[in-house]
Amino acid sequence: MSEMQTREVWKAVLGELQLQVPKPMFETWLKRTTGVRYDEEVFVVGAPTPFAVEWLERRMYHAIQTIVQKVTRMPLEVRFQVLGGAGVNDDEEEGWQDQPTEALGSRPGEYATGSNLNRRYTFDSFVIGSSNQFAYNAARAVADAPGEAYNPLFLYSGVGLGKTHLLQAIGHVCASRGKSTRYVTSEQFTNEFITSIGTRTTEDFRHRYRSLEVLLVDDVQFLSGKEQTHESFFHTFNDLHTSGNQVVISSDRPPHGLTRLEDRLRSRFQWGLTADIQVPDLETRMAILASKSEHLGVQVADTVLELIAKRVRRSVRDLEGSLNRMIAESQLMNVPITVQSAARILDDSAPDDTRQSIDPREILEAVAGHYGLEAESLIARGRTKKVSRARQVAMYMLIYELNMTPTQVGRFLGGRDHSTIIHGAGKINGEINEDMQLRQEVMDIKEDMFA
Ligand code: ADP
Ligand code: MG
Repeated sequence: MSEMQTREVWKAVLGELQLQVPKPMFETWLKRTTGVRYDEEVFVVGAPTPFAVEWLERRMYHAIQTIVQKVTRMPLEVRFQVLGGAGVNDDEEEGWQDQPTEALGSRPGEYATGSNLNRRYTFDSFVIGSSNQFAYNAARAVADAPGEAYNPLFLYSGVGLGKTHLLQAIGHVCASRGKSTRYVTSEQFTNEFITSIGTRTTEDFRHRYRSLEVLLVDDVQFLSGKEQTHESFFHTFNDLHTSGNQVVISSDRPPHGLTRLEDRLRSRFQWGLTADIQVPDLETRMAILASKSEHLGVQVADTVLELIAKRVRRSVRDLEGSLNRMIAESQLMNVPITVQSAARILDDSAPDDTRQSIDPREILEAVAGHYGLEAESLIARGRTKKVSRARQVAMYMLIYELNMTPTQVGRFLGGRDHSTIIHGAGKINGEINEDMQLRQEVMDIKEDMFA
């Protein structure tokens, strides 16, 4: 079909989705998608990043396919594809950190385009509790009066507790107020420095850093390389500091624990304010989960949030990860998240899992055996009706019984694309409620396996 038709169809689909999907979710995941092309069989949707593609496949596949079919009146399959290089500043975990740091423009509201700040990491989205109140206040004060309140500000905590989030929140405020701001990990700093030596552009490097009003250096414990890098960092720090520009540093330990750094650098880190972030208490963990699910536009029962908050204690990143996993599975399987399913997921992902785990191979054998096939034939490319069916049942069980992700299942089944897996497992999941025979088959297979 023509490009124009494709665009029109997708516009109609988006219009429909907009009515069905909560606004924040639509804004985050759907707004920047495009209709790429379609024929008699597939409709291809473009999304800006691999992460967005995976998300859409996991969570929106059926909804989108249904609407596409309705709009086109054709039994189309939907495929998602990454449309890179569209000039969109991706705001997801993957990719954005690797983007080259560009000078931040000073027009208000425009700074984020092309900057390497993650849009999610703002003060607004940071949930305050007693564990992080002090660090939060310090960060706010610095953002409001850079170079004046505390200089440097040194934040430290264990992993996944919000250092990067706060550093970038400061960055957002400062950049939006027209301050020349740069967020950099200490690895990036090291790499840039080393590169500048290789390309004989150390002068540019110096200039780039010393003209900043706000420098945010993440994970300074990874500042590595030769003495020269430390030397360069030391001078950068001194120059900025003495001229009243703000430096904010994060680390996984307090300054005196940074034994690999020189004394003079360590002692300078303590000139300003040092603030740590502790592991959040139960109440704060609950509040964080509530805020995340609201942001995603997904309703999750308090009992479920409480269960997660009680079981996942160490890091906010793990809290988020558990929640995301539950949401993904509930969308994939089209069932609500219950305390039971949540507990199962937590059991499965707990590192000290004592449950006897089933080998995916066992499921494959059991399914193949039930249909009188060889396990290998499910991995191979054969497409007879019988084999395809058995393969879809295997996909369904691997996801449903083993909690494997579609990507893992695809890899296990001979390198199939995860969208194929989502499609196959989803098909069985859709039919199993109506098709008594299918349900019986799956139950029989399970009995064989667990007997
Ligand atoms: P760190 O840099 O300390 O390892 P991050 O800043 O990357 O941790 O935080 C990990 C994840 O947890 C991020 O997605 C971040 O947004 C989230 N997070 C951490 N603390 C909070 C908080 N208090 N409120 C909301 N989200 C938080
Ligand atoms: Mg970090």
